Amino acid sequence: MEFSTPDNKKPHAVCIPFPAQGHINPMLKLATLLHHKGFHVTFVNTEFNQKRLLNSRGPHSLDGLPDFCFEAIPDGLSPFDENENATQSPEALFSSIPKSCLSPLRQLLEKLNGKSGSRPPVSCVIADAIMSFATIAAREIGVPCVCFRTSPGMVYLLTLHYRKLVEKGLLPMKDGSSLNDQLNTTINWIPGIKGIQIKDFPSFLQTADSNDHMLQFVISEAERCKTTASAIIINSFDTLESDVLCALSSICPPIYTIGPLQLLINKLPENKLKSIGSNLWKENAECLKWLDTKQTNSVIYVSYGSITVMTPEKLVEFAWGLASSHQNFLWIVRPDLVVGEGAILPAEFLEETKDRGLIAGWCPQEQVLEHRAVGGFLTHCGWNSMLESLCSGVPMLCWPYFADQTTNCKLACSEWGVGIEIDKNVTREEVAMQVRELIQGEKGKELRKNATMWKEKAEEAVGLDGSSTSNLEKLVKEVLFSDP
Ligand code: UDP
Repeated sequence: MEFSTPDNKKPHAVCIPFPAQGHINPMLKLATLLHHKGFHVTFVNTEFNQKRLLNSRGPHSLDGLPDFCFEAIPDGLSPFDENENATQSPEALFSSIPKSCLSPLRQLLEKLNGKSGSRPPVSCVIADAIMSFATIAAREIGVPCVCFRTSPGMVYLLTLHYRKLVEKGLLPMKDGSSLNDQLNTTINWIPGIKGIQIKDFPSFLQTADSNDHMLQFVISEAERCKTTASAIIINSFDTLESDVLCALSSICPPIYTIGPLQLLINKLPENKLKSIGSNLWKENAECLKWLDTKQTNSVIYVSYGSITVMTPEKLVEFAWGLASSHQNFLWIVRPDLVVGEGAILPAEFLEETKDRGLIAGWCPQEQVLEHRAVGGFLTHCGWNSMLESLCSGVPMLCWPYFADQTTNCKLACSEWGVGIEIDKNVTREEVAMQVRELIQGEKGKELRKNATMWKEKAEEAVGLDGSSTSNLEKLVKEVLFSDP
C-alpha cells in the first residue's frame, strides 16, 4: 500500500525512539519504510543525541528530505553531567524520561499541527515501547499510538508475567545461600514458553529488590504499552518465535512482527534516506577494506554494542584470549567501553597481533557482518546485533551484559542453535578455545549451518508473500491509516 496524495494530505507519522543506539537504529529503519510507503515522517531525537548525530555524521547529515524531518526534544538530564562521546546512563534516562518528555512532546505535536506550510497534520505516533508516555500525547490529539518493541517477543512475554511470578513466590529473588537454586529454577507454565530458568530472564527482573527503579520502569512501561497502545510492533519474525508470538497475541493489542527491518530496508531502491545513517560514533572506514584482505569465514568480529561497559581486567582477558586463539579478529573497542581510565591494551598484545587483528572505535556493523570474511561474532547479545548476525548467517559467541541480553543469549544458544555462551567471568583460556571452535571447529560448522537456515527463514519473512512484508502492509492499512 502506497499513498500518492498531495503533500498536505499525506499520512504523517511521528516516530519517537528511546534515545540509545540500539533503539534509534531500528526506529530509523521503520521510519524509512513508512516514508517509502508515502508517509510524511517526523523523527524525534533527544537534543543530546541530535547533537551527537550531527557531530558524527556531519552538519548536514540530518537535512533529510522535505517530507522526512528531524526534530529534537530535551531528555531532562543536565547537560553538565553528560560526556558528548559517551553513552548516557540507561538508569538516568529511565528516571528522567517519564518525568520530562511528555510536555515537550505535546508542544512539538502542537507545533506540527500548527498552520504553517504544507506539512500534513499528524495522523499517528510510533513510540518506542519504553517511551510509552507518548500514548498519552497521541490520545490527546486523537491519533493512534503504536508501541515499537526493539527486543524479541519472548522478553515482552516474560516481563508481562512478572506479577504472576511474584504471586507464586518465584520473584523477587531472595538474597542468601539459595540464590543459585533460584536462578536454576525451571518454569514450565508460561504459555508459549516450553521451559525457562530464572537466570535466562531479562536481567532487570532478576533483582531481589522489588522497589528497584529499573524493574519498576520496565514493568510499568510493559503494562502501559499493553493497556494503551493501539497496536504493538516487534522487530522479529513469525517463524523465529511462533509460540511466543501466539501467546502474546492472546493478551496484547494487535501485534505486528515486521522484522528483520534490515532486510526490508535492503529491498528499497537507493535514496537519500538510506544513507542518512544513525551512528552516534564516527565509523572507521578501514574495517571493510581490511576484511577484503582476509579469507572467507576467517575473522571473528567482536563487539559489545553501545552500552556495555567492563573493567580493565576483563578487557585484558579478551585481548589475550583473542591473541592466543591465533584467529583473525576485528575488535570494536568503543572510547567509553572501559569504566574509569579508558581502554588500555597491553603493548605486547598489540605487537603480537598486529598482522591479524584490527581494533576500531566503531564500524558499519551490518556491512561487517555481511562481509564474506566474517566467520563468527563475539557479541553482548543486543537484539539488533543478534538479528544482524542471523540475517548474515553468522554464528555467535554470547557474552550477555544486561537487560534483554540474558534472554537473547538463551534463545541463540538453546532455541536456535546458533550460539555458544561465554561465562560472565570471562577468562582468556575460554575466549581462546571458543573463538577457535567457532571459526575452525566442528561445533562452529554446525552453528554456521543453523545460522544459514535462519538467514533463509528471515529472507522468506521479508519476501513478497512473507509474514513481515504482509504484516507491515496490514499495520499501515489497519492501524496507521485508519481512524483511532
Ligand atoms: N553498531 C554499529 N557499529 C559498531 C557497533 C554497533 O553500527 O561498531 C550498531 C549495531 O549494528 C546495532 C547497534 O549498534 O544496530 C547496537 O544495538 P544492539 O541492540 O546490538 O546493542 P545495544 O547497543 O542496544 O546494547
